[in-house]
Amino acid sequence: MTAFAEIVAPAGWRSVDIISDLHLQADEPATFDAWRRYLQDTHADALFILGDLFEVWVGDDAAARPGFEAQCAALLRETGQRLPVFLMHGNRDFLVGPALAAQCGLTLLADPTVLTLHRERWLLSHGDALCLADTEYLAFRAQVRTVEWQSAFLARPLDERRALARSMRTQSEARKRSPFMVWADVDAAAARDWLRAAHARTLIHGHTHRPADHALGDDLRRIVLSDWDANAQPPRAEVLCLTTAGAQRTRLW
Ligand code: MN
Repeated sequence: MTAFAEIVAPAGWRSVDIISDLHLQADEPATFDAWRRYLQDTHADALFILGDLFEVWVGDDAAARPGFEAQCAALLRETGQRLPVFLMHGNRDFLVGPALAAQCGLTLLADPTVLTLHRERWLLSHGDALCLADTEYLAFRAQVRTVEWQSAFLARPLDERRALARSMRTQSEARKRSPFMVWADVDAAAARDWLRAAHARTLIHGHTHRPADHALGDDLRRIVLSDWDANAQPPRAEVLCLTTAGAQRTRLW
């Protein structure tokens, strides 16, 4: 049985921005710059990041050294001083921990979480837990989300963790290129079950990098967020804005 965490927006919030899957990494500065410009420009009353903000996160201590992680942390902290920032784990950055949250003034979000805004209940998730056909990944996910796995991993020296993350990434890239790889998508029946249990009509998630609005029947739907890639042709960067008018996508290019 899935537990649904709940957040009730304060009455003063008029608009909420939702983003996901920026996959920020040191060797893609253009996407980082797009993110920085977006954060400086947004007029949202709150920002929800639904996972995979980072291409990889090997532990909060990475942000204590000068470098890319520290740069990201500084920007999050700056943003957190202007508006509340909520962060949900993705399958790449599930090791973002309480230390980074405290340092940056972030609130970590459980997956899934129901956000009540203007009397509407929005069900928020990264989306990976709903890709039921990818049983190999789900087994991996169950393992790396345990306290035992995480404390053993975090106990390793930082450089070793970075090297391990690189090799895991190479393996996952190779798997994606395999002709036997079937791209798992969010399971529609599971999405409907979640929505009914959460008393919500709309699921908002990322992860699949296949932005679309899907009708799920019975007035239920799911909104899939876009990933961000400033180097793609055309570049991708999209924000989903929730207001009294509903959910609206805004492309930054
Ligand atoms: Mn993901």
